[in-house]
Amino acid sequence: MTKFQEVVAKAKHIAVITGAGVSAESGVPTFKGEGGQWKKWQYQDIATPEAFSRNPSRIWEFYHHRRHLVLTQKPSAAHLALAECESRLRKHGRSMVIITQNIDDLHRQAGSKHVLNIHGSVMETRCVSCGEVAVNHHHPICASLEGKGSPDPDIPEADIPVDQLPRCEQSDCRGLLRPNVVFFGETLDSHLLTKVEKELDTCDLCLVVGTSSIVYPAAMFGPQVASRGVPVAEFNMVTTPKTEYFM
Ligand SMILES: [Zn+2]
Repeated sequence: MTKFQEVVAKAKHIAVITGAGVSAESGVPTFKGEGGQWKKWQYQDIATPEAFSRNPSRIWEFYHHRRHLVLTQKPSAAHLALAECESRLRKHGRSMVIITQNIDDLHRQAGSKHVLNIHGSVMETRCVSCGEVAVNHHHPICASLEGKGSPDPDIPEADIPVDQLPRCEQSDCRGLLRPNVVFFGETLDSHLLTKVEKELDTCDLCLVVGTSSIVYPAAMFGPQVASRGVPVAEFNMVTTPKTEYFM
């Protein structure tokens, strides 16, 4: 612990990699947790680009439910501590970036300013026509989703006509919006990954918090930093496959 404090005291730019563990404490079920099921579907069968093209109403109901869960939760002690730490560092000309796999937006709600959401955010939309990405905290996001999205398989689906689902607010577009999250089977945003690489190449301390380092590419971020000889500290409840790389 003393060694860790010395390293922290010297660090000018800290990269923090977070995962489901920081949000589990807030009560937000993760993709893999809680049986990973909504109505009768497994998440990996419903959070896909094919499922969205086939039945955008179903996928919007599912994300409406997820947004509801996020909006009724508060940031955890871990989210708040990281936001506080960033704010203190900034006062001394030092910096922190959070690179998160979570899509729940709780880091930003906790007050963190510099957050890279590598899997996107349920609080953002992306237009399938013009590509516009926008932050959207309206709940429900459109009138037709009011009271919908129950995970109970016995409650029938809403089958909302596509013109009543969330639509792009660009006046000459009005295209269908989708949640700005990385669906199963999609690749990560390459611009965002370039930013992540830059942060990993320039940080002088890396913290890995609440992630089991199993999901790629995030699983390699810590080892990548460690291979430059930069200290990496892991904060997890259990030993993970990458623990051997870290201090
Ligand atoms: Zn648009």
